[in-house]
Amino acid sequence: MKKLNGLLIGTIALLTSACSSSPVLLDSRTNEASSLITALHAARSLTDAHDAEDILVVFDLDNTLLAMNTELGSNQWYDWQKTLRDEQGCVDERVPELLKAQGAAYHAGSMRPTQPDAAAIVRQLQEEEFRVMILTARGLDFRLPTFRELRRNHLNFSRHAIPMDDDTHFSGLTYFPEAGKARAVLYEDGVFMVAGQHKGEMLKSLLQRLDWEWPEAVVMMDDSEKNIKHMESTLGLLGIPHRLYRYTKEDSRTENFNTDLAAQQWEQVAPALKTIEDVFGSVNFTMPSPYSDPACN
Ligand SMILES: [Mg+2]
Repeated sequence: MKKLNGLLIGTIALLTSACSSSPVLLDSRTNEASSLITALHAARSLTDAHDAEDILVVFDLDNTLLAMNTELGSNQWYDWQKTLRDEQGCVDERVPELLKAQGAAYHAGSMRPTQPDAAAIVRQLQEEEFRVMILTARGLDFRLPTFRELRRNHLNFSRHAIPMDDDTHFSGLTYFPEAGKARAVLYEDGVFMVAGQHKGEMLKSLLQRLDWEWPEAVVMMDDSEKNIKHMESTLGLLGIPHRLYRYTKEDSRTENFNTDLAAQQWEQVAPALKTIEDVFGSVNFTMPSPYSDPACN
């Protein structure tokens, strides 16, 4: 990947690279995949036309690389809870309160790989010198439990992601993207936390922020169709060849989500989490108020 050389040259370089790598017809595909290995195969298939280090492989986190061990705190739990806000006695402010509850669940909970070879596949991509990163809808408030669970599951994106600078020196960067919804994002050690904002626009903002040209091709794997569509629209407009996959491995788990069990788990654990917060303070999480049913009367 190359640094932009000032705005004008950068724009020309972007157009040139987009044109040279994609002659007339864009060789781009969107599909479903039930294994992460598809990302490796897709990246390899692009090396006929591009160097590995000019190919960016983007993984989503929740329900793509890792999944919560409990129903509580999972994406499906959050989505289910969000639908309850229209019920009688609940208010729109339910969503921020839910995020607090999810933060507490992240702090206390743990994650498992979606497939046993998840970390090995990521390592293989890195060893073959592809650029590999995580692009997650999680917000930066969840930074610590997120990195803790990545570490625990042997996932390390600090090498061979999009570098912060020419020396491939990694550190954290927090900013408010112009195209976003006024929510701060964090890029650290190859993990980009975009707080529920448009993943295509956010990737674009990160490359601009770091003065990098677009990679010559992008491979993405994400369990959310919306995220895939967003990335597809951004890459399509820019003419970047891509292979985008909606990851389906966790579909049966999310479809069979047990709302009763999740509610029961929250009921069991919420008083204890509240006590921990009262004693130790809100350093690691803030409990919703009231915690029994966040933002409902
Ligand atoms: Mg996901």
